[in-house]
Amino acid sequence: MKSFLLLFSFLCALYSNAIELRYHLSMPQPNSHYFAVKIDVEKNDQATQEFKLPVWTPGSYLVREFAKNLNQVKAIDGNGKALTVKKKTKNAWEVDCAGTTSYTVFYEVYAFELSVRTPFLDNTHGFVPGAAVFMYTENSRNQQGVVKVYPHQSFKKVSTALMPIDFKADAGVMDKSEIGVQSFIFKDYDQLVDSPIEIGNQTEFSFTAAGVRHRVAMYGEANYNVPQLQRDMAKVVEAATAVFGSNPNQDYLFIVHNVTDGQGGLEHMNSCVLSVNRWSYEGSAYVGFINLVAHEYFHLWNVKRIRPIELGPFNYDQECYTSLLWVMEGITSYYDELLLLRAGFYTKTEFLNKLQSQINYVEGSPGSRVQPVAHASFDAWIKAYRPNENSGNTTMTYYSRGAVLGAVLDAYLIQKSKSKKSLDGFMQVLYQQYVLGLQRGFTEAEFEQALSNYCGEDMRAFFTNYVNGTQIIPYQKYFEPMGLKVTDLTSTLTNFGAALEAGEVLKVRTVRSGSAAEDAGINVGDEILACDGFRIDKTSLENKYNNLQPGATLELLLARDGKIFTAKCAMKTYAKPQFSLQITDPNAPLLTYWLR
Ligand SMILES: [Zn+2]
Repeated sequence: MKSFLLLFSFLCALYSNAIELRYHLSMPQPNSHYFAVKIDVEKNDQATQEFKLPVWTPGSYLVREFAKNLNQVKAIDGNGKALTVKKKTKNAWEVDCAGTTSYTVFYEVYAFELSVRTPFLDNTHGFVPGAAVFMYTENSRNQQGVVKVYPHQSFKKVSTALMPIDFKADAGVMDKSEIGVQSFIFKDYDQLVDSPIEIGNQTEFSFTAAGVRHRVAMYGEANYNVPQLQRDMAKVVEAATAVFGSNPNQDYLFIVHNVTDGQGGLEHMNSCVLSVNRWSYEGSAYVGFINLVAHEYFHLWNVKRIRPIELGPFNYDQECYTSLLWVMEGITSYYDELLLLRAGFYTKTEFLNKLQSQINYVEGSPGSRVQPVAHASFDAWIKAYRPNENSGNTTMTYYSRGAVLGAVLDAYLIQKSKSKKSLDGFMQVLYQQYVLGLQRGFTEAEFEQALSNYCGEDMRAFFTNYVNGTQIIPYQKYFEPMGLKVTDLTSTLTNFGAALEAGEVLKVRTVRSGSAAEDAGINVGDEILACDGFRIDKTSLENKYNNLQPGATLELLLARDGKIFTAKCAMKTYAKPQFSLQITDPNAPLLTYWLR
């Protein structure tokens, strides 16, 4: 279209480089769940060109094989003549484009998995996480370009953090058929895939906080109250910005999917996507929603800008391994609670109770003694994102142990510097040094060195014992000088060691290594028919074994693969590390800092 091209040439001049790829995204039949993608290629001087689709999307550390949803990849030259397209690898297609300066690639994307990282399209809305929808070429990755969105006629809105090209600036020449069509500029492919697009009839509202305009695009019916969200989300934004002293964005977008089965969020540079239960906006669930807002918002610094060197620029073809997800996700999880305390959503006691639960989950999990949090980070791709029935025995989540390590480091920095330094200060140093200064991510060694430098002490033992090692963290050492009393409540419990699942039949869901259940030969998946000669339900069996002494026995009647058998289970003791935290000095430095 003429006006579009004129305006576009002007914008190209502003952006200096020539445009190579222009994407067109349409959705002619939303109920078919197919997006149609067209890519215009100009200034071609290659004989062949490889087009690829990422196998994963940043922030979600699992190879999802997005190419499985692509069909009918075709190409034509400027005269409409078909070009040969050959599949090269699972996520790459080669177009034979010899002798043509411009050509077009077409394909369709099946989009029927609603999550924060997968594409979705039905008659209520469309959601486009770019990595799962837009192909790229290596020689255009760093080029700016345009994506033109053609919403279905029943959809009135497009919400994305990408910069729109405003047709009104070129008034009066828009083609009627293009009404509702919106075009956006991206500066490179990374920005395109880091800016999800919501298309539908979502409700949008905005608020200003920390000098930044924030838009909230709400898909789905829900019990939210706009003035309340404007006020409360602004408090979170202000608290997060206060950690760093300034906010790097001028505009920020929250895309919220209000659904029955909310799944959490995904962070981006200047937007995020939240998937929440539609009734999350009242009562105790509301703090959970605000906590998710705080988590994803803090990520706009920690992981999107302050980051391991492997996490941007990205290799979209394969896993990007880092041992630092405990910093990216764990420290973010520490802050998502701390920001709620600072913003007035928690009392000191509520915050402390949350930290205590986190500590007890971490230290009480058998996997905490098996998998160091650095290994948990590295293996996120094959373990955290692919849990199985044995994960509790062998894995530790980098979110939880990382959050606890964040709290411990914070306390230690304040203690050692007599309140002159803190984790806030260390995050600022990383931001200044690597994001604004070197403009890159850091290696694991650089991160450890930066912490030692900031702390003024060789921190190798900390990393050896608690990050690359699995030792129980000495909470007394870190918290007691800071006005918190730490009581070790580790006790020896009589424990069966199998978690049960009540459904049509009573089944064993997990078996703890070394437990009475394991010794008795009980497997995950076994059906429990009876105990000591009588049929039994989940609650009754749990009550029964919780009240037994060590050595007491239960005779269980079980079924496995259709065969019935008995197992004699002798109860055993199990030492589960547990701690309690109490405030001893309400004016102690750690509490004062937490509430700054
Ligand atoms: Zn996160």
